[in-house]
Amino acid sequence: MRGKKVLKEKNSTEYNRDDWYLMVKVYTIASGKGGTGKTTVSINLGTALAKLGKETYLMDADIGMANVGLILGMQDVPVTLHEILAGKNKIDDGIYKGPEGLKVIPSGISLQGFQQADPDKIRDVLSEIEKKCEFLIIDAPAGISKDGVVPLAVANEVILVVNPELSSIVDALKTKILTDVVGGHVLGTIVNRVNQDKNEIISKKIEKVLGVKVIGIIPDDANVRRAAAARMPIVVKYPDSPASKAIQKIASDLAGVAYKEEEIKARREGFIERFSRVLFRKKSEK
Ligand code: ADP
Ligand code: MG
Repeated sequence: MRGKKVLKEKNSTEYNRDDWYLMVKVYTIASGKGGTGKTTVSINLGTALAKLGKETYLMDADIGMANVGLILGMQDVPVTLHEILAGKNKIDDGIYKGPEGLKVIPSGISLQGFQQADPDKIRDVLSEIEKKCEFLIIDAPAGISKDGVVPLAVANEVILVVNPELSSIVDALKTKILTDVVGGHVLGTIVNRVNQDKNEIISKKIEKVLGVKVIGIIPDDANVRRAAAARMPIVVKYPDSPASKAIQKIASDLAGVAYKEEEIKARREGFIERFSRVLFRKKSEK
């Protein structure tokens, strides 16, 4: 059974080594600066968890530069996190059905909506959603203003998304320090947009600089943009693409289940084989 808002003040080393993931349900996806892949990771990690049968919510807390709604084709919904954080609507009014049964709380894109939204109310939204879900993924804004800091403080665990560049790593380090200062905790780092071959070296360097574990490496993959253009998560549109596989592996780890790439592939091959057998069966066999 999943815990409630647990062990927030404690260090993650105090989780039982074997079942820490059972205790954690609220993850904030953060980085120092924009463009590292937070929204991509949030949407796809959320969808991958939903695909695993987990009751998963995704909240777009990037209330200034909201992207989740745009990428999932929810830009015209009547109630967004803006209205909820402005006290105009209830949380339940702003929850929408996303891919694979993922529940999505998009944010609005108007400047006025942003100005009226009170980031402190995120805590109330969180305590409501926590009751309903197994996982809540929060897409956080970049930067150190209040709307950026609250998601770092309220999550059970923060996951940093960094690119394999010095400036990105330095910015992530600042975010890690900020998270510590506000009483949050960083679970680990996802290195995004990695070119093959250098995985090992990059992971070791990043772990050394940030002092946190690398929990996943996502390759640079042109399918990410293609899927976004089609307004679909890559784990749905191109589930076998390199970035999809990497994200699905991270989701499996967070959910505490074995990553079943081989089984999924075998099932798909089985279907294709059966299909072609029916199509190309000789007349005499029919
Ligand atoms: P953030 O939310 O941190 O600002 P986004 O998720 O919006 O970042 O990603 C920024 C840009 O990088 C987008 O155009 C996205 O399609 C692209 N992108 C993200 N991850 C990858 C990847 N693994 N491979 C290729 N392009 C990526
Ligand atoms: Mg974003």
